[in-house]
Amino acid sequence: MSEAPLEAPVEEAAVVASSVAATATTEEVVAANPLRDPRDKRLPRVAGPCVLVLFGVTGDLAKRKLLPAIYDLGNRGLLPPGFSLVGFARRDWQHQDFRQLTHDAVKEHARTPFREEVWKQLSEGIHFVPGEFTDDGAFDALAMALKEIDQTRGTGGNYAFYLSVPPKFFPVVVQQLKRTGLADAPDGSWRRVVIEKPFGHDLKSAHELNETTNEAFPESSIFRIDHYLGKETVQNIMALRFANNLYEPIWNRSYVDHVQITMAEDIGLAGRAGYYDGIGAARDVIQNHLLQLLALVAMEDPTSFDANSLRREKEKVLKAVRLPADLATGTARGKYAAGWQGGEKVVGYLEEEGIPADSTTETYAALKLEIANRRWAGVPFYLRTGKRLGRRVTEVAVVFQRAPHLPFSKDDTEILGQNALVVRVQPDEGITVRFGSKVPGTAMEVRDVSMDFAYGESFMESSPEAYERLLLDVMIGDPPLFPHQREVELSWKILDPVEEFWATQGQPEDYPSGTWGPPSADAMMARDGRTWRRL
Ligand code: NAP
Repeated sequence: MSEAPLEAPVEEAAVVASSVAATATTEEVVAANPLRDPRDKRLPRVAGPCVLVLFGVTGDLAKRKLLPAIYDLGNRGLLPPGFSLVGFARRDWQHQDFRQLTHDAVKEHARTPFREEVWKQLSEGIHFVPGEFTDDGAFDALAMALKEIDQTRGTGGNYAFYLSVPPKFFPVVVQQLKRTGLADAPDGSWRRVVIEKPFGHDLKSAHELNETTNEAFPESSIFRIDHYLGKETVQNIMALRFANNLYEPIWNRSYVDHVQITMAEDIGLAGRAGYYDGIGAARDVIQNHLLQLLALVAMEDPTSFDANSLRREKEKVLKAVRLPADLATGTARGKYAAGWQGGEKVVGYLEEEGIPADSTTETYAALKLEIANRRWAGVPFYLRTGKRLGRRVTEVAVVFQRAPHLPFSKDDTEILGQNALVVRVQPDEGITVRFGSKVPGTAMEVRDVSMDFAYGESFMESSPEAYERLLLDVMIGDPPLFPHQREVELSWKILDPVEEFWATQGQPEDYPSGTWGPPSADAMMARDGRTWRRL
């Protein structure tokens, strides 16, 4: 049986979005939708009137993800009437130039079909303010432009500032917003700031950035992006665990042997050498995405899905994370060497354009962590991430202990593996349960088989992009999917000693591009009598 959709399908939503007045309320937008099931009393999550100010509009993230996601929200009927988008960049541009950039980005990257009527409505609200982040005059002009937009488009002084800018400019822009008074919300309005990753490069810098941001905005107005939390499959970890009774009784040290969390990329630097070198795989991926996944897999059930309850449980887990006593054997790091990827010969990391020949940045990182609490004591959590690996895949695999007794002959169960529950975050989003089954026609031979749930097959619509969900949450003011400053700092606290240790170890170990990482990563597992999952 298929679920009644909460939102109108894309085509109908587009008609609704274009037929209501610019000042209509959420209820009016909903009522104007002829396809809405009248029995469904839930209101869709639609943002109230506001302006989204995007810093860094000419950047890669804005063009590939943010601008298309804004359009997709509009296409789904989820942007408020009067919604306005202000782009800020160091270009001698008119509004029309930014409209053109947005148009091209939407055409190239939007998830939903391009519709003239939706685009027309969105483009009417697109404005541009030129300037450098260090230019006071440009921010004064921004403040004036926003006042004008409030008057012409009824946006009520509600502004979300999205910092899609190089991390060194996060404090600069936040201080400009404070200086101009743009960070202070007059009564009855709101001001929010969205900060991209990486949030700091160690505990000290993350703490300083938190302090700077907290001086301008209250914590409830700060939205730190970890776009993994916007992914449907990641949120589904919570549904899987807490909406069912099937898994929770065995989700603990009595049944779980170990957990493997993997984010593998097949690409190399993809033109981002300037960002990546000096940061590396662990800071880029483990500190945020993988530790957030670990927290969702390992946390206790929150009393509700509100931000405080959820963040409290994640924090408790992060506080209980323990590093291996010996970092030399309990961690691994590598850098890709030349090799073959997707049928093409590719160069090694040190030969990439813009990478210094003596760089010690790792492109592969693996850690073995433990969680010191009653539920997880003694269960290793293995985390790995890397570039130029065999293929692009992100998954969480909960691997269960073997059955305590097998009443079959040894031959019949020779190739039987361990039960596993695998959450596929991307691609082919879904869940697989692996278990033993009798091989047909044999006396009692037992082998591994898989039971699959695929998002694409079970639900009729494609999943929204993570940034659609997160942008909507920012405009609504719904913070559960954004890490709190304490989570960010706890994650750096876990990683800092590893980074300090690696800094004393010289060059990371080579692995040929297109393979699954350095030999030390396999050795780390072998010492525990385990292997990495073959993906
Ligand atoms: P990017 O391509 O380097 O873009 C940076 C943007 O900031 C450009 O629009 C650039 O404008 C602008 N900018 C830089 N210095 C400026 C200044 N002094 N004054 C005004 N504008 C200035 O970076 P990105 O890849 O889009 O990443 C943006 C943020 O998202 C970063 O914090 C990054 O870590 C994070 N992030 C990116 C990705 C991704 O896939 N790209 C993924 C996750 C997180 P110009 O065109 O004038 O240089």
